[in-house]
Amino acid sequence: MKLLRYVCVVLLLFAIISTQTNHVFSQHEDMKVHYIDVGQGDSILIETPRGKRILMDAGDPKQGKRILSYLKKRNIKSLDLVIATHPDIDHIGGLITVLHKIKVHKIIDSGKTYDTHTYKKYIKLIKDQKIAYDRVEREAEINIDALVQIDVLNATKEKTVGNNEASIAIKIQYKEFVFLFMADVGIEQEKQMMKQYDMEADILKVGHHGSRTSTSETFIEAVQPQVAILTYGKQNTYGHPVRDVLHHLWRMNVNVFSTAVYGDITIQTDGSGYYLFTEKDPLDHMIEETASIMYLKRSKGFR
Ligand SMILES: [Zn+2]
Repeated sequence: MKLLRYVCVVLLLFAIISTQTNHVFSQHEDMKVHYIDVGQGDSILIETPRGKRILMDAGDPKQGKRILSYLKKRNIKSLDLVIATHPDIDHIGGLITVLHKIKVHKIIDSGKTYDTHTYKKYIKLIKDQKIAYDRVEREAEINIDALVQIDVLNATKEKTVGNNEASIAIKIQYKEFVFLFMADVGIEQEKQMMKQYDMEADILKVGHHGSRTSTSETFIEAVQPQVAILTYGKQNTYGHPVRDVLHHLWRMNVNVFSTAVYGDITIQTDGSGYYLFTEKDPLDHMIEETASIMYLKRSKGFR
């Protein structure tokens, strides 16, 4: 599959050179996945090739406003689907603001309940706003756009299972291109998934913010991603991401991008090749720092 994709990219490039066009992909059939920088937490916006909008998680309660402005900037006035992967505050917290302020057509979670104020507010809002609600479990399919295949690889409402382990993990395939979203699942769930599914994917949203509880070496070997996305806040108190996870990824030559370093990260694909855009360039930050040091020295010199 991957070799075929490279061949396609080469052919595509050849076609561009020969037709002298500036458009690499036809815009309307592209899929975009935005890993929004919400500090320590997850929030992912998916725009399917046929224009459906899915928001998966919304960071902690403070991040709701940021997500709304992210949607507003892209002229997104309603969401076709919201997926709440699990009821932890760094995933559903921001949803309270989002559900208040924007039209949501449907919401999906695993049915896992949690005894917190945030969770109660979230459930109350779904009822108050009369949002269509569905519970999914492992092996479910989410049908929203005929051009993409969305499979639920993990999800349970079992009381004996922890919130992270009960998370909704999904795989989205558009033509040959595959995204994996691991929410906060642990190594045991990764093992389960490897037994049951073909886990090979191009883009991996690393589980549980790069914690040691997820992303085993065998899992990365099974996925063989080109890009791994880590979602965590700078100087978080959990020590995410751990060195072991980063080493496993580097050893497998995976390109690692984190929201803490690059800000919002967007991947745009035509189902074959992809572009990756980042809000920040770590080098810019270094240049800014150097520039400000230089400025300070100069201003001292002028005195
Ligand atoms: Zn989390």
